[in-house]
Amino acid sequence: MTNMKINPTYSTKEQLIELYNKPLLELVFEAASIHRQYHNPREVQMSSLLSIKTGGCPEDCGYCPQAARYSTDVEAHKILSVDSVVEQANNAKANGSSRLCMGAAWREVRDNRDFDTVIEMVQAVNNMGMEVCATLGMMSEDQAKRLKNAGLFAYNHNLDSSKEFYGDIISTREYDERLETIENARKAGLTVCSGGIIGMGEAVEDRIGLLMSYMAMETPPESIPINALVAVEGTPLEDQKPIEQWEMIRMVATSRIVFPQSVIRLSAGRTKMNMEAQAMCFLAGAGSIFAGDKLLTTPNPEFNEDKEMFEILGLIPKAPFKEGEQPISYPDEKIEARKAAEAQRKEELEKASREARSNGFEPRKIIVNS
Ligand code: SF4
Repeated sequence: MTNMKINPTYSTKEQLIELYNKPLLELVFEAASIHRQYHNPREVQMSSLLSIKTGGCPEDCGYCPQAARYSTDVEAHKILSVDSVVEQANNAKANGSSRLCMGAAWREVRDNRDFDTVIEMVQAVNNMGMEVCATLGMMSEDQAKRLKNAGLFAYNHNLDSSKEFYGDIISTREYDERLETIENARKAGLTVCSGGIIGMGEAVEDRIGLLMSYMAMETPPESIPINALVAVEGTPLEDQKPIEQWEMIRMVATSRIVFPQSVIRLSAGRTKMNMEAQAMCFLAGAGSIFAGDKLLTTPNPEFNEDKEMFEILGLIPKAPFKEGEQPISYPDEKIEARKAAEAQRKEELEKASREARSNGFEPRKIIVNS
């Protein structure tokens, strides 16, 4: 099997648009043929997406119910505990998921206690033998290195659409800033997960523009999620009509043909697709779905429905680390230094207290008036 990260047959925007608009069955046939060369067509990875910190985001992504500025039903929550993430990861694993994506509604990663908690979550879930992906907003190269060192397998940062259309959907950060974060993930040795959303009012040219952005990269993303917009009440895109299922199939097939080795992930919007349309997506090269009843905050088919679909279609849940070795989780220097400093401080306080007692001082009694 030859190495083919980007298909050399298609290099111009015109060629890609022509490909996207090909007679549907021709397009799916071409995609299915390529898919069989680089992937086991019966294997589909079940991934779970967990919101580890929900809502209250300062950004203005027009599709997102977690943006603080929109009035939606999403309730903001602070970061989950490591134990709770491990419990949910165990449940996802028991239901067949081999990848856990942890999402935090942040503009960017900050070097604070919450990020330390994420590092501990990554270590714990990687040690359970699952691929760990995180989507935490913009991040520096140093932060990416800490995540890599903790055992993170992939970093997700979607470009969403073409550079030209991006400004219609998000104004609080630039397309180039997103490219920079992807570059930082690369420099740290993480694999990249980056994809888009269709059905936001963009033209076919914008869908192709998204793929062109990935073609311009030295290494395209190993993982490309394709989402259909889930129009949520209270967001600027609440009135968008659901995208035709055929458009999802076309986008999956085109992405598969252009990036033969990447995993194309059939992501948000599956609740609006029937099993037949999903089957066409698998035929066209989708190699992963998100399983579990929630995709961050939006609805998703239940584990049981997907198990039934796998049985009917003869699909097999894909094992983890087929696309790369399991990373090693190393101790995190900052967390170790903090814990050592905390232990030392505790010891000093206990010593001071012991000395005070031996000198005849009694701790002050606090009397609470009832
Ligand atoms: S998509 Fe992410 S960055 Fe944009 S508003 Fe939602 S949580 Fe914030």
